[in-house]
Amino acid sequence: MIKSRSRRDAAVITLRKKGEADRDADVQKKEDVVSDPDILQEEEPEKTIRCRFCDHDITRPSLAVEPHEHTFRNPAGLSFHILCYSDAPGALNNGVPTLEHTWFSGYAWSYAICQNCQSHLGWWFTGIDTFAGLIATRLIR
Ligand SMILES: [Zn+2]
Repeated sequence: MIKSRSRRDAAVITLRKKGEADRDADVQKKEDVVSDPDILQEEEPEKTIRCRFCDHDITRPSLAVEPHEHTFRNPAGLSFHILCYSDAPGALNNGVPTLEHTWFSGYAWSYAICQNCQSHLGWWFTGIDTFAGLIATRLIR
């Protein structure tokens, strides 16, 4: 009688220990799930600003310079809404810079074209520093 009862107690203890071990394992799993998205966010590259015509990476939001947006009219009467970036690694600088009809005093302009498809995306402006003014409607943001 006593022997069989103690055997049953032993079985209960074993089950409870097993249950505790499982709970610990569950906690461990939950911690893994919680930490995974953080790792993914750190590894995710910064959003890019791309060429509307071919999807090539042109620049990044972190390269925006203030004042960022301008609307200008060229001598032919065409109006352009441009966004300014301190750099645009995906845009080639094309043509000889000129100060003629420039929109930024002291800055000579040349064409900024997509490195991949050669579409005209805006202009490079070169003065005491250089920045790109890219046409908003020719970009995917
Ligand atoms: Zn392109």
